[in-house]
Amino acid sequence: MAREMKALANPERDFIDEDRMQGQLSKQRDPEPQKIRDIIAKSLALQRLDPDQTAALLNIDDEDQWQEVFAAAAKVKDRVYGPRVVTFAPLYCSNLCLNDCVYCGFRKSNRAEKRRKLSLAEVADETRALIATGHRRLIVVYGEHPSSDVAYLDDTIRTIYQTRDGHDEIRRVNINAAPLSIADFRRVGAAGIGTYQVFQETYHHQTYRQVHPSGPKADYLWRLYALHRAQEAGIDDVAIGALFGLYDWRFEVMGLLYHAIELENQFGGVGPHTISFPRLEPAANTPWNERSPYRVRDRDFKRLIAVLRLSVPYTGMIITAREPAAIRRAGIELGCTQTDASARIGIGAYAEREQEQEAARQQFLLNDSRGLDEVVCELAEMGQLTSFCTAGYRCGRTGSTFMNLAKQGQVHRFCIPNAILTFQEYLLDHASAPTRKIGERLIHRQRKRLPTSVRRRLDRLLARIQTGERDLRV
Ligand code: SAM
Ligand code: SF4
Repeated sequence: MAREMKALANPERDFIDEDRMQGQLSKQRDPEPQKIRDIIAKSLALQRLDPDQTAALLNIDDEDQWQEVFAAAAKVKDRVYGPRVVTFAPLYCSNLCLNDCVYCGFRKSNRAEKRRKLSLAEVADETRALIATGHRRLIVVYGEHPSSDVAYLDDTIRTIYQTRDGHDEIRRVNINAAPLSIADFRRVGAAGIGTYQVFQETYHHQTYRQVHPSGPKADYLWRLYALHRAQEAGIDDVAIGALFGLYDWRFEVMGLLYHAIELENQFGGVGPHTISFPRLEPAANTPWNERSPYRVRDRDFKRLIAVLRLSVPYTGMIITAREPAAIRRAGIELGCTQTDASARIGIGAYAEREQEQEAARQQFLLNDSRGLDEVVCELAEMGQLTSFCTAGYRCGRTGSTFMNLAKQGQVHRFCIPNAILTFQEYLLDHASAPTRKIGERLIHRQRKRLPTSVRRRLDRLLARIQTGERDLRV
């Protein structure tokens, strides 16, 4: 209660100080090579960077220095998370929305959008279609509308968890929904969500006002404080993000860092569980997106991923099917820890077996429609285990417990064996023959890298999976 009072006592305190951030960016022009090396060394020691240091990285001009940053980003990811990538699918429940975000196909004034909200039976159908492919984790997405209120969130989350078919089930439901009050966050927390995710979109106030002209989302601070309220309601895995392409990418990276620092300061060191950095994509009847002068080129996109990786070494990073396959591969090499697969974002698209995208039912267009098996196979070829693991969350390794493990580079002690267990389940139950072959070879290689005691325990559990048991964890 004391903490609730502390954060809310001064809700208008705006921790995004633009002048300071712009000053830091312009002060750090042309950083010396030695300075960059010192910053990299700090990150490799798994310490969060200070804003001045992040600003220096963002101002690197020299291509060789960027190559050093990329190599260090890959190393940090391996040190904290090991060779694994967590995989999930998005599930869109409703495209009705009160807001008018100029970049979004769901915006209220977009008459071309075909509006629809899934019934609970349809949510169950979508879930069945997803679990049949092997998915175990979802991000469930909603527009902001009275018809998708907290009761609907609560019902849909519970429906997803209750929908099972043999061993197939969703074991972790994360949500991306409009900011709620503390009381409403308590309710979705009680429904058993994993992570609550909401993106500030842009940290630049004037741009924020321009691109969010009306509706509840026009309130910058209500959104900025959403994750404080979620944490105060007991949801200790929260996720931030910015939509890159609305304003200068370097400024947005600074904004994300300040947001992470603020959460760490307010909540005993527990910063965001993940950071997202979607790039602006085309959407039906939304010409604004093509005209934005701030669209991020591939070269800068890779740079921003690497700088974020070094700035918050212990935080998860998500790259999605908005990006084409080659960029997703590059993003994973640069330190992304989570990605989606077989994403369909039309409302009801999984159960209807939609293969093609239908712009008028989507928020934006995707660039990678590959199925789960293909993504898993590619990750295995890259030496990355696909993790469907939800053990950490169900064993209480969330919030400060997770953060402390991550900051000490200890996450992989639990997470590699658990990733292997869920990967083995997937290979037996859902993978194509080529994926199974390459996947099992990867498991064989990875288990040899584990300490003997962990490997022995893992081998016993793997043997039980071979005899039909499921959902085992260390
Ligand atoms: N209605 C919720 C909200 O606004 O917070 C959920 C929206 S949606 C799944 C999640 C994110 O998609 C948004 O926060 C925004 O960053 C992103 N998005 C919206 N329009 C987009 C576009 N045209 N291209 C890429 N991403 C977009
Ligand atoms: Fe609505 Fe979210 Fe789209 Fe804005 S981004 S119009 S709030 S669905």
